[in-house]
Amino acid sequence: MKILVVADLHYSLPQLDWLEKMAEEIDLLIIAGDLLDLAGFADLDTQIVVVRKYLERLRAKTKVFVCSGNHDGDVRNEGDEVVAEWLQKARRENLFVDGDGFDFGKGRITVLPWWDGPITRGQMVEILDRETAESKTCWFLIHHAPPNESPISRVRNSDQGDAFFRETLLRLKPDFAFSGHIHNPPFSDQGSWIDKIGSTWVFNPGKQLGPFPSHIMIDLETMKAQWTSVYGIEEANLNGEGVELAAP
Ligand SMILES: [Zn+2]
Repeated sequence: MKILVVADLHYSLPQLDWLEKMAEEIDLLIIAGDLLDLAGFADLDTQIVVVRKYLERLRAKTKVFVCSGNHDGDVRNEGDEVVAEWLQKARRENLFVDGDGFDFGKGRITVLPWWDGPITRGQMVEILDRETAESKTCWFLIHHAPPNESPISRVRNSDQGDAFFRETLLRLKPDFAFSGHIHNPPFSDQGSWIDKIGSTWVFNPGKQLGPFPSHIMIDLETMKAQWTSVYGIEEANLNGEGVELAAP
């Protein structure tokens, strides 16, 4: 089973075109938030229409999992927290969004919303409580903000990760967690695209400009993960205890 992971496309149409071509070669596509761009050249309503068209084409080719990011909110709830209502409306067959859980073989994928305050965080906890009860041998979480205290959330000397998500990983022990949000860690010396927190492999593909997004390909048969960017390719063996990076 081949899984492609991207995040933070921020309304890059060439990168969405690239995804459409790649979708034919993979079993699952994970987009870990920030599909839209609040500072973008097109207004948000236009971006939503266009991105939904791309999601429709992607779901015709593969199973697609999309979590909301801080750029994806189109409405505010009663607590003035941003919510991606458009993404809820985009839910279709083969297109899984915030709050969804999906069984693949003996594994399960859970899509978590961006949390922006106590109400949205409470909704995330409800989803996690429900999903914890599902039987599964392998569990994937998708959550825009990466855990803190990790090279996947470190930019120079500042840690911009999510302490609550880190606690969640240590408590619930999923096998994999896919995030984005912080664009530079994979490209920086102290940062990384992969880390292990407790027993959970955590990933952040990062964001680059150009015709294709920096991305992670995971092969569950060989248990190898590969990160590709304009700078080249790095590979990690997911059977090991810690991160060992090698050129493929
Ligand atoms: Zn972003």
